[in-house]
Amino acid sequence: LAHVVAVDGPSGVGKGMVTRALTARLPGWHLLDSGALYRLLALAAHQTGIELTDAKALAALAPNLDIKFSETEEKQELIILNNQDVTRLVRTETTGGMASKIASIPEVRVALLERQHAFRQNPGLIADGRDIGTVIFPDAVLKIFLDASPDERARRRLNQLREAGISATLDDLRTEIFQRDERDRSRAVAPLVPASDAVTIDTTSMPPAEVLAKVDELLKS
Ligand code: C5P
Repeated sequence: LAHVVAVDGPSGVGKGMVTRALTARLPGWHLLDSGALYRLLALAAHQTGIELTDAKALAALAPNLDIKFSETEEKQELIILNNQDVTRLVRTETTGGMASKIASIPEVRVALLERQHAFRQNPGLIADGRDIGTVIFPDAVLKIFLDASPDERARRRLNQLREAGISATLDDLRTEIFQRDERDRSRAVAPLVPASDAVTIDTTSMPPAEVLAKVDELLKS
């Protein structure tokens, strides 16, 4: 089985920044943004009129999603769902909220398990999410759990959204992120908690370069 590096943590903490840096350090390794799978399933359900509480219909929809992750010529993320460019739609906080709602349904988590396992291919996989180190790949060779204060995470998410050309306000984001975190931490299945063998990095007052230096240190050890 290919090696896995797991990066978990709450919303807006900088998992994407860390996984991007890891791909540069681990050339050829595959990438799994597991949150995007929950977001895409929620979007597809929304678009086809499936209720976000309909466990059976959501689980049936999961294996049938035609998803393509790629990049534009400018190296920008490109996500295609059933032949539709949903890159921006996937990243909105409205979609994040819908994703978090369906993510608390056990049948949905089971339905997305196989899809996530399929990303594990040689030479290795860098996977980020909430339960990568605890549930999806408990045998990951390195487990990083990123944390930061809620206010700091709302600020980071605001910057990310602005960079992606998506408008948002800090106040709205703060409320939405708090709600999402609360739901993710308190759900009965795969709640957001660090794996017992994860290294937690509190990044609240760390500039990105410092976080990456810490990650480099962990990679070497
Ligand atoms: O990371 P991202 O913000 O894209 O995740 C969206 C939502 O998907 C999270 O709030 C969480 O509810 C859910 N999720 C999850 N398990 C994962 C990744 C994401 O429950 N491994």
